[in-house]
Amino acid sequence: MTFPWTLACSNCDATSDAAGLPSLCPVCGHPWLVEYPSLPDPGLRQSLHTRPWTMWRYREWLPLAEDETPVSMGEGGTPLVRVPSVEAALGLKTVWVKDESQNPCGSFKARGLSAAVTRAAGGGATALTLPTAGNAGVATSAYGARAGLDVRVYAPDFTPPTLLAQIRLYGADLRLIDGHIGICGQQARAYAQADGAFNVSTLCEPYRLEGKKTLGLELAEQLGWTLPGCILYPTGGGTGLIGMWKAFDELRRAGWITDPSPRLFSVQSTGCAPVVQAFETGADATEPWPDPVTVASGLRVPAPLGGKLSLRAIRETGGTAIAVPDPELEEAATRLAEHEGLDACPEGGAVLSALEKLVAQGVIGPDESVVLFNTGAGWLYR
Ligand SMILES: *Cc1c(COP(=O)(O)O)cnc(C)c1O
Repeated sequence: MTFPWTLACSNCDATSDAAGLPSLCPVCGHPWLVEYPSLPDPGLRQSLHTRPWTMWRYREWLPLAEDETPVSMGEGGTPLVRVPSVEAALGLKTVWVKDESQNPCGSFKARGLSAAVTRAAGGGATALTLPTAGNAGVATSAYGARAGLDVRVYAPDFTPPTLLAQIRLYGADLRLIDGHIGICGQQARAYAQADGAFNVSTLCEPYRLEGKKTLGLELAEQLGWTLPGCILYPTGGGTGLIGMWKAFDELRRAGWITDPSPRLFSVQSTGCAPVVQAFETGADATEPWPDPVTVASGLRVPAPLGGKLSLRAIRETGGTAIAVPDPELEEAATRLAEHEGLDACPEGGAVLSALEKLVAQGVIGPDESVVLFNTGAGWLYR
């Protein structure tokens, strides 16, 4: 198979073709970014309505060969819902929640893994492995099952029981580790090296990012090819934040949108906030967080590979990074359930709590349009 896209290192000048199973840049160890020789013509906007509402409606924007069928379960096409109680309480014109809990497997990890498993299967992988805080393990197990690939997942033994049960449900080989996600990552790398399994850990391969890019494409289409003023995103590895930043850049270069990029706000827990810390000290890379502790397990990423890219996305768009204590993010998630009927995950609560702080600080003003990301379903954490 030949591929129309190429790979460019996010950190150095290295480039590569896309054959086989690319992982990290062999020169400097940083993530690859996918580059397309030409971007889709804006005329395509008019015919999108004939396609199903899944992320693959944007197939021309994604790493897919012409006649290839993706490994798909209808991921994407999630609702963008107004939250009137939040608008009224904060005196804001428009606040939406992008409700990613409606994806297959209950989280937006489905988008990244649909793209990554499609490419891994196409590149000849027979087995997949990754460390997980929960949702990525569930999605990899499900998409791996669908593609007929063996999956081995390394998860901390304190991961919520429902998430672990879901990983087992899809038939993955689940290894529980007495330690945090960093230790799980070492184990997954060692297994990949010894047994030839392909490591689909966040940003360790270039295609989960492309799947997450559809968050930005979809948001733009749902808003009639305009963009909101502010996006609040619960940041662990940063894939979604970086993916949307890439989406808005590509959309603008292709002439599909003219709006400037939304300000991107990265939200973390005070129990694990390497991006916030680097942002506040003016550093261009994150320092490993020594003792990551938070119930928002998607945010429990002490040393994100995409730290540098996340910081660039936040700074270039004029956003900030902000941390919320666990009791406050849990309380905000409960309010989304009780006042809006949304079963938000703790990470979804974190962005609401952060919005309240940013409004109180005057960073986000009354005339702004704001999108909050509820990245997964609350029931998975119970
Ligand atoms: C993985 C995850 C996150 C963090 O996503 P990144 O794009 O890696 O920053 C946030 N929320 C939930 C529910 C997650 O599963």
